Amino acid sequence: MILGAGASGLMLASHLCEKGVRDLCIIDHNPRIGMKIKVSGGGKCNVTNEKVDTDNYLGEENFVKAVLDRYSPSELLKFLNERGVVPKIRSLGQYFCKKSADEVINALEKDIPSEAYKLSHKIEEIKKDEDGLFLIKTDKTEISAKYLVLATGSPAYPQVGGSDIGLKLAKDLGHSSSVFTPVLVGWTVQKDQFWMKELSGISTYVSIDVGHKKLYGDLLFAHKGISGPAVLSASLYWKKGLVKIDFLPKQSLKETFKQKKKQVSTQMQVSKRLSKFLLESIKLKDKSIQDLSSEDWDKLALLKAYPMSPAGNFGLKKAEACRGGINTDEVDAKTMQSKLHENLYFLGEVLDVTGELGGYNFQWAFSSAVVCAKDLETKLLK
Ligand SMILES: Cc1cc2nc3c(=O)[nH]c(=O)nc-3n(C[C@H](O)[C@H](O)[C@H](O)COP(=O)(O)OP(=O)(O)OC[C@H]3O[C@@H](n4cnc5c(N)ncnc54)[C@H](O)[C@@H]3O)c2cc1C
Repeated sequence: MILGAGASGLMLASHLCEKGVRDLCIIDHNPRIGMKIKVSGGGKCNVTNEKVDTDNYLGEENFVKAVLDRYSPSELLKFLNERGVVPKIRSLGQYFCKKSADEVINALEKDIPSEAYKLSHKIEEIKKDEDGLFLIKTDKTEISAKYLVLATGSPAYPQVGGSDIGLKLAKDLGHSSSVFTPVLVGWTVQKDQFWMKELSGISTYVSIDVGHKKLYGDLLFAHKGISGPAVLSASLYWKKGLVKIDFLPKQSLKETFKQKKKQVSTQMQVSKRLSKFLLESIKLKDKSIQDLSSEDWDKLALLKAYPMSPAGNFGLKKAEACRGGINTDEVDAKTMQSKLHENLYFLGEVLDVTGELGGYNFQWAFSSAVVCAKDLETKLLK
């Protein structure tokens, strides 16, 4: 029994069906399968990344490594290629579907018989009976199963079915977890940075320092605050306090402003409108570089380490993932099986492992599913 017809649940089912496992049941409350895949990557699903490393994840490093080592991006691409899907690198090693995310959904469902699905069933409760069977209660029925796989993801994007039911179910079975909070999400800003909202729609290349991490990419000014790939990835590592934004990440301050006779604003390598707002924010009047005082240079240095404390984030409805989940100390990375209950498995985002933006979360979902499939196959095909 697989709870959740999302990325990890479908990959597991596909592998099991390909090996000839019958008698499979996949439950989901959505009327359609793979809804997060469908909306991912702007509809083109950033399915994995050329370079996937534990450094791209928040989670217990040895656990993450053990799982990723067992099913790599090249194995995932081979699986997709064999099903006629040939994702292409767009930038930063990110693989996207050529036409649409449906290519991935079709590849996953190819080997799964339609009778396996129980859709529009909301999972509500799990219990274990005296014979060791799991009893699953949905809003429509009760089913018992010897093997149970929890692949219900996180509550990010509830509009396509995201929920935190996984943590409740795991808790009822004695597992510990940390609470889900939205990440890969834009930040709202404090009063000092309200000027950013006036730039809504403009995007600029930056780096963001958050804790010990430095994330590069585009920052998009939005009417609620700031968003874009750099902010989304940085949001994974931010809990509270200061972050520093480098608005001129390509060069040092001296290199950027080496042409002494030019105006400061013309050398900033950002749009004219943004340069005006940036100079206002550091309280520096635009002038010729040769006229800058040492105090002015100190102000300019702020553009390479612009301090701000996000006020909060755009919330679950805008978040691409959640931090938190089931404690991985209680799960065996070689099989994804619970260390507390034999025949209980956890996959994907329901676990306390979250990747940066860039295809890392699907790779995690798929790797954990294949690790589980290898273990379940040996049990089911005995
Ligand atoms: C807008 C958006 C864009 C994204 N883009 C990317 C991207 O391009 N690349 C990338 O790597 N990652 C991306 N992600 C993240 C990625 O989608 C997830 O990390 C991944 O889908 C997690 O897989 P999963 O199998 O753990 O969970 P899911 O794929 O979320 O599957 C969980 C399933 O459980 C079902 N479920 C939940 N609660 C219940 C319940 N009570 N009863 C029955 N069923 C239930 C859900 O309907 C869902 O089908 C994106 C996420 C979002 C929201």
